[in-house]
Amino acid sequence: MTATLRRLFRRRPPGGLACAQLVELVTDYLEDALSPADRRRFEEHVSRCDGCTTYVEQIGQTLSLLGRVTPDDLSPEARRDLLDAFRDWQAGGAAATDPSPGR
Ligand SMILES: [Zn+2]
Repeated sequence: MTATLRRLFRRRPPGGLACAQLVELVTDYLEDALSPADRRRFEEHVSRCDGCTTYVEQIGQTLSLLGRVTPDDLSPEARRDLLDAFRDWQAGGAAATDPSPGR
């Protein structure tokens, strides 16, 4: 195996899904709306990615609190907030949900 190939292998995300793609799929996953192939890739990624395991658990808790969330309920802003929060996790920051001190 060449060094280039090895590097590509290492960079290949679990399940062939990048974390950002997983974030896009999570509501479909929780609503059982993914195709079997996508679902398998999703689960494979989560099983190997600690960050996404935490993410999916948190989304699941939010869903059980709210009762239900449909993709229509997720505004573009909400999606971006989720992605931003997720990037914080990815950056290794523990303070993903930092309660900003009041002004
Ligand atoms: Zn991930």
